[in-house]
Amino acid sequence: MDKQIIEIVSKHGIKTGSKIYQLAEKLSVKFNEFNLSAPKALDNLLTVTLKDTIEESDIVNNLEFALEMAGNPAMGTKDDLFKTRIIADNFSLQDIMFALIRHQIIEKKIDGESLAKVQSKVLSPGDFVIYCNSARKRSSTVVHNKNEYVDSCPICYQSFINTNKKVWFWRDYYLFGNHAPIVENHLMVTYKKHGLQSMDRQFMEDIIDLNFMFDFCRPYFNRPGSLDKHRHVQAFSGTFPIENIKTVAIGNTGVSEFDPSYPATGFVVEGNDKKRVSLLVNKIMELCDSRQVKEIDRFVPFYLIFARKGDIARVFVLPKWKWKSDTFPKDMNAYNAKNESEKNEFIIVPASVETAGRGSTSDLSTFKRITYADYCHLIKDTSAPLEEFKFIRDELKKI
Ligand SMILES: [Zn+2]
Repeated sequence: MDKQIIEIVSKHGIKTGSKIYQLAEKLSVKFNEFNLSAPKALDNLLTVTLKDTIEESDIVNNLEFALEMAGNPAMGTKDDLFKTRIIADNFSLQDIMFALIRHQIIEKKIDGESLAKVQSKVLSPGDFVIYCNSARKRSSTVVHNKNEYVDSCPICYQSFINTNKKVWFWRDYYLFGNHAPIVENHLMVTYKKHGLQSMDRQFMEDIIDLNFMFDFCRPYFNRPGSLDKHRHVQAFSGTFPIENIKTVAIGNTGVSEFDPSYPATGFVVEGNDKKRVSLLVNKIMELCDSRQVKEIDRFVPFYLIFARKGDIARVFVLPKWKWKSDTFPKDMNAYNAKNESEKNEFIIVPASVETAGRGSTSDLSTFKRITYADYCHLIKDTSAPLEEFKFIRDELKKI
């Protein structure tokens, strides 16, 4: 092994001849092939991988994974790698290698069997898309039981590490396929530590980066949801119908509002500076919080969808007020009851994905009983009231 490489490996406390040592050696060869500075690249990768000491088997998995990616021609040529590096100027080596796995994730390794059950239909051409997964149960996402995940958390790393599920480690997150996907390539991105669902600027910036690295996918932050006990975002492949709506700029703020013809009220923050974008989104979130959040109890009254257009990051912010936590299930049941008589299995969850034009159902046979008008009604009901919306808009103009 190269002298410099040996120094790096011993700096990280890796024993000569160990499995990690052997992998580091192989990786340094790959880095050289890619014209990267092997000692620097290896140092970077080991620093990220060894951070917060995960189990040795995890480290081995991550390095094997990195090696697989670096050596797999399907992941891209050297030119692709450099192209990615230019786009991702500020990204770490781990990010770059991660970016190269995108086709692998999308095409092969997400839980293929459950994805095969997912079907899709267009409810109203160009407006909304409904996906069907018969394995998914309606009640699981509409009940907000605070004790639901006291004993076990279904998205904690520990809960699936002993399964066959493929898991990727990236920055401070784990990525894996959703166990009951409602669309193709339904990804979960969970924070490494168990803790309440929340959004802050660092998390937002990471998710903006993720969106740029995985240009095929759209991460979204969902509250309320059935997984409020653990910080996470989900991601869908493809684009959201909401990305095509007309918007009206609010001065020179970088923020636009949805065209009034769209059934939901909301904002889109755009820009090529992720810090500025996350600052503005944060401002809107604060404004949401400053209004009626106490009445909403634990629910945060906004949803975020991370999109992009070329080099421009676009974050859709969908503020919501109307359904308070105590009346939430009641209202929901009332709405569902209306359709229950017809055995409708449509999942009535006023979540970001629905508002953005993607819904889900567990039974495609009842699909036709939901009309476009039903959908608009639901979205209007859960969207921010106009006076609250105007308040935020006026505050944004002061920026
Ligand atoms: Zn957890």
